[in-house]
Amino acid sequence: MRTILACILTAASALTASAYTPVTLPVIPPDPALEARVQQTLAGMTLEQKVGQMVQLQIDVVGTFGTDGRFSLSQAKLDSVISTYKVGSFLNTPGTTTLSAAEWDGIISTLQESSMRLNAGLPIIYGLDQIHGTTYVNDGVLFPQGINMAATFDTGLTEKAAATTAWMTRAADCPWTFSPTLDLARDPRWPRFWENYGEDPLVNALMGAAAVRGFQGNDPNHVGPRHIAVSLKHFMGYGSPFSGKDRTPALISPSDLRDKHFAPFLEGLKNGALTVMVNSASINGEPVHASWRYLTRWLKDDLQWDGLIVTDWADINNLYTREHVAADRKDAIRIAINAGIDMAMEPYKADFCSLLIELVKEGKVPMSRIDDAAARNLRLKYRLGLFDRPNTTLSEYPEFADRKKHDAQALEAAVRSIVLLKNNDNLLPLSQGTRILVTGPTANTMRALNGGWSYSWQGHLADGCAAGYNTIFEALAERFGKTSVSYVPTVYFPEQGKYYDEVDAGTAEAVKAAAGADVIVVCIGENSYCETPGNLTDLYLSAPQRDMVKAMAATGKPVLMVICSGRPRIIADIEPLATAVIDAMLPGNLGGDALAALVSGDENFSGRLPFTYPREINSLTTYDYKASEEAPRMEGAYDYDARVNVQWPFGYGKSYTTFSYSNLSVSHKEFNAGDVITVTVDVTNTGTRDGIEAVLAYTTDHVASVVPDNKRLRAFTTLALMPGETRAVRFHIPATDLAFVNAEGQWTLEEGDFTLRVGNLTAPLRCTETVVWTRPNI
Ligand code: BGC
Repeated sequence: MRTILACILTAASALTASAYTPVTLPVIPPDPALEARVQQTLAGMTLEQKVGQMVQLQIDVVGTFGTDGRFSLSQAKLDSVISTYKVGSFLNTPGTTTLSAAEWDGIISTLQESSMRLNAGLPIIYGLDQIHGTTYVNDGVLFPQGINMAATFDTGLTEKAAATTAWMTRAADCPWTFSPTLDLARDPRWPRFWENYGEDPLVNALMGAAAVRGFQGNDPNHVGPRHIAVSLKHFMGYGSPFSGKDRTPALISPSDLRDKHFAPFLEGLKNGALTVMVNSASINGEPVHASWRYLTRWLKDDLQWDGLIVTDWADINNLYTREHVAADRKDAIRIAINAGIDMAMEPYKADFCSLLIELVKEGKVPMSRIDDAAARNLRLKYRLGLFDRPNTTLSEYPEFADRKKHDAQALEAAVRSIVLLKNNDNLLPLSQGTRILVTGPTANTMRALNGGWSYSWQGHLADGCAAGYNTIFEALAERFGKTSVSYVPTVYFPEQGKYYDEVDAGTAEAVKAAAGADVIVVCIGENSYCETPGNLTDLYLSAPQRDMVKAMAATGKPVLMVICSGRPRIIADIEPLATAVIDAMLPGNLGGDALAALVSGDENFSGRLPFTYPREINSLTTYDYKASEEAPRMEGAYDYDARVNVQWPFGYGKSYTTFSYSNLSVSHKEFNAGDVITVTVDVTNTGTRDGIEAVLAYTTDHVASVVPDNKRLRAFTTLALMPGETRAVRFHIPATDLAFVNAEGQWTLEEGDFTLRVGNLTAPLRCTETVVWTRPNI
């Protein structure tokens, strides 16, 4: 069997990588013929029809659940909702049941038929959270979660995964997904840390742009039947709640907001993203759903973007019930629609429409705003071809059934994403014949490999739905032989209950079994969760799990610690007890097989941490911390110093081979704002195994008018190399990427010294001019 790596080596990966793409306005080039159809349709619509386009309902509203929990559509309820309110959109899976592609075809075509019949030929648009593959199509494919895709540092893998997810979603007759998630994972306490592409703005931006291209294809005006519309979410700052808890306020400096949190959304829009979903919470006291500044000025006006802004779940009502910036429900609708919301994910009450119509009649929401929002809804539907072809059906996608092919794609992504953090005494790879004892709560469950958004919101159905896939224990037993691998549960997750519930079955049995083992594979981490139910009160790994690792290490047998967890839980006290450590994060259905292939040495590790793994509970940080946080000891009596102390840094990850860097050169030692700096470096595989190296280019700005970040990632790529092989990598970094947002909120590039860093090599750079831009995006 050829390994995944061998296939990549033959295919020879691209050697040139670039950074952000420049902004050209409007971000989506207009299509006059399409726009004429939008305006013509709009001209024939009543106020009721226009407002109806602006509401999205949960599918449960138009159906019933039988005693067996199965959902069925009610034609009467559906026809009533469509004819009374002219509803333009539906979302989500019914209840918590995931459906097959054929079942989705049945449901969505019925909705479409009712809408075309009762709402003057206007199609509805259906939206699903297809988060790491076909979340809600249970016969589709689940890839690794976003955090793992980021660890590959390979945007090509993300683009391919999105492309497969797109046509599979179309096979289920759904044209719209609420993905990709581009919140920055900068606070490991936050329960949605794993849904996006890690802590860095550039990684989120380039992975997000790749996902947009994969989902939508390359022409946002004509999204064909193999593609679906995206929704970049959650615009913006959602990942940095001050409390660490979901949907709580963020306090973000204006400079970080523009420079870091906005960057992935900007890049996604430059790549044609058709819709954006809004952050449920507030930034510096301003709920984003109420912010004309962020929604209308930043997204629509500054970028001349003609796409659609959808709320998150019930978030207009939340302006009244939770955020306390509206006096009542109607007031909340007034505020959000005037701020720039085009579609309300209501999700249960269609009387939103009546209240909005009242507001228009009272002159509190201008008709021009309704026309604009309705046009944005129609434009999306025209771009998706829904007027001409409201449905797509499973039978048009015969390759849907080719499970082996899709699983191979998910396996490749999983192999590329898993990170080797420690390998003392070359414990890994384990040779055939090694007697392996497997234990720990994440060793024998599909939930811990997949996390949330897997067959259900909380991922709680994964063990049933993914029963055909291997857990870590099953995959190791398959790879090393059943007689070599044994599993003894110690701490385990109960089937029912909260994600943090654990049963401590004691370690006595496992300690006994360790006597007959050569190595203990201890699988630790978290059960599946999503959003607010995943909030935590203590970032340390649970006490029962840490005690269990201590007991296993006390047997004297070498311990391989495998972490399956969407966010880094602190393990500072037990890490020294492990001979080897692997962070598998949430590698998806093929994660067990990927791990076994890596542990056996059939595949080589290439994943790198896309976040900073914390060591101290009170010192959570990110790699781009401020220069002032790491200060040398001061002279004299007041000998202050400051240290940043992490478990593993951003970008860290080991391989079975080694790489060296040489011949770093730059096209411009001195540059001005109009230059593009070309960086070239040679990378050599100096070990004895094929390997893939993630090549990361950073810059440091030595002196700036506001405290500079100690370093920033400016470009990255991956490179597959055979032993002894050398290849050149070339990055093109526009000088404007080295600009920052100053204290006045303006982009500026300042004259002065920078250092460029690639691997262990550095090169000095000097900017020869200071430029301040008055336009918001450069
Ligand atoms: C989540 C979104 C999701 C939406 C629709 C919300 O609770 O925050 O990420 O897209 O539900 O399911």
